[in-house]
Amino acid sequence: MRFLKKGDKKTPKSASDTAAKAHPDLKVITGSQISGRQPQQPAAPRQQPQQQNITLPNIKYKIAVASGKGGVGKSTVATNLAISLANAGAAVGLMDADAYGPSIPTMMGIQEQPKTSPERKIIPLVRHDIKLMSIGFMVPEEQAMIWRGPMLHSAIRQFLSDVDWGELDYLIIDLPPGTGDVALSLTQAIPLTGALIVTTPQDVALADVRRGVAMFERLGVPILGIIENMSYFVCPHCNEKTEIFRADGGKNTSERFGVTFLGQIPLDAEVCTAGDIGVPIVAGHPESPQSGAFGAVAAELVTVLEESGEEDELTIL
Ligand code: ADP
Repeated sequence: MRFLKKGDKKTPKSASDTAAKAHPDLKVITGSQISGRQPQQPAAPRQQPQQQNITLPNIKYKIAVASGKGGVGKSTVATNLAISLANAGAAVGLMDADAYGPSIPTMMGIQEQPKTSPERKIIPLVRHDIKLMSIGFMVPEEQAMIWRGPMLHSAIRQFLSDVDWGELDYLIIDLPPGTGDVALSLTQAIPLTGALIVTTPQDVALADVRRGVAMFERLGVPILGIIENMSYFVCPHCNEKTEIFRADGGKNTSERFGVTFLGQIPLDAEVCTAGDIGVPIVAGHPESPQSGAFGAVAAELVTVLEESGEEDELTIL
């Protein structure tokens, strides 16, 4: 296992062959491919708070994954998306900032304490080719739950400034559900490339999406797209496709807000089991149709980044 260093040529790893076969358009973006910015949506004024002073010059895209409420599969999507990008040859980090339910250690099958380097930097753990940091590595889940604003704020800043992320194409940041302190701390600490919003198709989840969209607009963070999870179920016996919840809710909401719709993920027992056993479906079964759905979303995300020409916003303000 190795991570890309400056000037290295990225060559897809073995798993990427299968991902690339399924999604030939899934590719890694490099700085030279980025041109002028074309916002995805009517641009909200980008209010960069003054504390935004952590520089991560070696991380190209810093992408928050959010949801209006818990249980919609935000962490599952963040994890499988990260692995899809890594399978295509990108260097990827995953930062679990979901203080109220840091489930990524379980989903990635890792429960260790990260070590510290002689330079006093925290060395992220590595699993499925992803560099990982989680609040769950630092404290037991029940303690993280009771963290309040200032503690969360300093944990987030520490994850960004004291962790030796190295050179990454993508840092995927799993936020807690809802609109709260962590999103604020994050946007105060670094300029995010943008946010992804995960939802399920039904109305109640979509009302929460509206709040999420409004929060990111207020914080001046571009919304890169909406991902609809648990969109449909394909019967493993007869292959019949059933839209258990409301059909196309996420898609319709995307259209209403003028936000890109990045795709649908099926409701599937294997997706759930894979998370429980610590080998996300995209890592364990990269050629499955479910992994194909995650790969398609990753490909769409790459296209959005490419088309938006989002510049690396790495300047210290
Ligand atoms: P959140 O981060 O939004 O709270 P999680 O990613 O932790 O949600 O998912 C909640 C539960 O739903 C987990 O048990 C997870 O395995 C399951 N889950 C998420 N997405 C799917 C899916 N597409 N199909 C089946 N189960 C899923």
